[in-house]
Amino acid sequence: MSTFQAPKGTYDLLPPDSAVYLAVREAIAAPLRRAGYGYVETPGFENVELFSRGVGESTDIVTKEMYTFTTKGGTRLALRPEGTASVLRAALEANLHKAGNLPVKLWYSGSYYRYERPQAGRYRHFSQVGAEAIGAEDPLLDAELIVLAVDAYRSLGLSDFRLLLNTLGDKTCRPAYRAALQDFLRGLDLDEDTRKRIEINPLRVLDDKRAAVRAQLTGAPRIADHLCEECKAYHEQVREQLTAAGVRYEDDPHLVRGLDYYTRTTFEFVHDGLGSQSAVGGGGRYDGLSEMIGGPELPSVGWALGVDRTVLALKAEGVELPLPRATDVYAVPLGEEARRALFTAVTALRRDGVAADLAYGGRGMKNAMKSANRSGARFALVAGERDLADGVVQLKDLDSGEQTPVRLDELVATVKERLR
Ligand code: ATP
Ligand code: MG
Repeated sequence: MSTFQAPKGTYDLLPPDSAVYLAVREAIAAPLRRAGYGYVETPGFENVELFSRGVGESTDIVTKEMYTFTTKGGTRLALRPEGTASVLRAALEANLHKAGNLPVKLWYSGSYYRYERPQAGRYRHFSQVGAEAIGAEDPLLDAELIVLAVDAYRSLGLSDFRLLLNTLGDKTCRPAYRAALQDFLRGLDLDEDTRKRIEINPLRVLDDKRAAVRAQLTGAPRIADHLCEECKAYHEQVREQLTAAGVRYEDDPHLVRGLDYYTRTTFEFVHDGLGSQSAVGGGGRYDGLSEMIGGPELPSVGWALGVDRTVLALKAEGVELPLPRATDVYAVPLGEEARRALFTAVTALRRDGVAADLAYGGRGMKNAMKSANRSGARFALVAGERDLADGVVQLKDLDSGEQTPVRLDELVATVKERLR
């Protein structure tokens, strides 16, 4: 019988690489925690309509990439393709927006699913950390979120990333821009699908990645020339605050992102070491989403950063994260009595915060010492019957090879001292 393999477009996270993923998630979350964002966790699946309405009927995510299924009870569900709609749904359902403290600031971390053509950096199961600030319209809040993402990337030691920034206007100025853009696009030489898109969601045509389409878009009307005074002033404040925080950005008038509910501020982080899957994260303001999924008017802003691509970006830049040792002390017992004594010693070390492991399975000295070396531990703890009779264990420094007897009742204190 052949063995099973992970489904197409997915991969497993295994030690030691999995530790890097945990560290990346933690590094992205740390600035959010310091800025008052609370952790939220929502189900891995939702009613299909939440995404078709909340992400947009005309987006690739909904039309092509969503995993949908019908339950035995006849409910139509979808594996979540993104986080924002679910997080807003959860906040509305729990009335978090009525508790009096706006914006409601939430962060999340988890798995997302899109039926995509798998390639480097593009998977069918991937991982994001995201943040949403719900219920406030304030350019400082847009700036805050962008700064927090930049600080996360910087704390990881990344430097080859760029921030692309744009504004999409609002319900005052966007309609006229949309109409002007449609007029322009209708005059181009485009395929059937793209022609349809002009009528449903023309801004997304600006996002087309194909060279033949891009070449025709050079003269397209720019949102910057159509912004109302409020949107102009709002965007200017976002930019000023970014500059004040030492964050550089590039104006990208073609940045529209894939989702329908974005208004005003929109941004994307790209990494220059990743080839064509260069977007490591993105987000923006989504003032219309709450009403679109049946809630009150709740202007909001958020982002999602891709964990998989962030790990690839670290590799591309050759950044090695300073990960804590998996094991500080590895115990090598010689004989049955030593096995029991060292099990007790290892337990005491762990309870005092020292990462400790033991050679299980009653292996010989040579074999167990190999495991100690492979574990990456700083010290081996070796003991036989004679040591135990003397009330000591041998603490062997695996870097220098030096070995010293340590009294069992002083073991924890000694190890902690020497690890410092
Ligand atoms: P792309 O243009 O690459 O398809 P997107 O606009 O669909 O990206 P978002 O919906 O903004 O992506 O998701 C935020 C981030 O999640 C992306 O910047 C990317 O890092 C990551 N991401 C999105 N889709 C995938 C995927 N299929 N595999 C791996 N990471 C992904
Ligand atoms: Mg996509």
